[in-house]
Amino acid sequence: MTHPFPSLTPEQKKALSDIAQKIVAEGKGILAADESVGTMGNRLKKISVENTEENRRAFRELLFTSASATATKMSDSVGGIIFFHETLYQSTKDGVLFRKLVQDQNVVVGIKVDKGTAVLAGTDGETTTQGLDGLAERCAQYKKDGADFAKWRCVLKISDPCPSSLAIMENANVLARYASICQQNGLVPIVEPEILPDGDHDLLRCQHATEKVLSAVYKALNDHHVYLEGTLLKPNMVTPGHSCTKKYTPEEIGFATVTALRRTVPAAVPGICFLSGGQSEEEASLNLDAINKCPLHKPWKLTFSYGRALQASALAAWSGKKENVKAGQQAFCKRAQINSLASRGKYAPSGDSDTSASQSLFTASYVY
Ligand code: 13P
Repeated sequence: MTHPFPSLTPEQKKALSDIAQKIVAEGKGILAADESVGTMGNRLKKISVENTEENRRAFRELLFTSASATATKMSDSVGGIIFFHETLYQSTKDGVLFRKLVQDQNVVVGIKVDKGTAVLAGTDGETTTQGLDGLAERCAQYKKDGADFAKWRCVLKISDPCPSSLAIMENANVLARYASICQQNGLVPIVEPEILPDGDHDLLRCQHATEKVLSAVYKALNDHHVYLEGTLLKPNMVTPGHSCTKKYTPEEIGFATVTALRRTVPAAVPGICFLSGGQSEEEASLNLDAINKCPLHKPWKLTFSYGRALQASALAAWSGKKENVKAGQQAFCKRAQINSLASRGKYAPSGDSDTSASQSLFTASYVY
């Protein structure tokens, strides 16, 4: 039976699906550069740089012009960049709007549209994510201002009673409502139900929670008539808790991750772009590579949408100094290229990776 109240025209569907496909084209992933002002402040503090608008702008200019420091094109490894509101309206020091600079490199511009988390009363500190009020108007404006995709982060956690069925249902529903509003306004929604790595749970426990969360998300997306071909999923990898004493190999992590995804994510979804979730840069690359090498059938692109694991060594190399811009850009390009290889299951570590790439980027109860 045809749907009596189609939510999107064939032209709208094609436009959404084309955007999603372009972002996750072969060898490409996403740079998540949408840290809020507070989160960016925490990053800058680590390199003793003040959290001013100019310093945030300068670091983002470094990232978005990074191709100039190497013989590569940004679009060889990056299909999309997620901006924070402030960044969408900022320019290079020479006056070129960042969004134009990025689009001219054939990279799709995205925008974070959620307004952070709020506690669900009567739970063990579980949260939902806010920002639905006025979302349609904001999406319409962002589309006019050059954005073609959006991000909304929901957060779940693993503990004795968590994730609770309330948190699972509430977050699945709010993600579906957000996704529907985005699609009505021509933005491809990145659907991000992040399960935090905090805790001492083992790999199987994370796999089980991930399956429960993702199956609820896809039920809600279906209930809300979301067009899956015009969406991207941004999940956690299935990993043991940060304080788990048992260690697992990338192959075990890859197998558990692909198993959970195969059980819950429809094949109509074009791409799954993992968050790095506090893994070190090198760990995030090795695990993505193992996911792509996993010998199970994988009907979607499996790639990266990293924040910390793409920016940590670039930030450290830059340290807020003009004379270090090139070194910061080279560090960023190196991670982007490694992750591009990993998204094709072709990363062979040379063993010369610097120690900073192996440093944990974990923060307890991470807020973005
Ligand atoms: P990390 O890769 O640093 O986990 O962040 C990605 C992100 O966009 C979280 O919403």
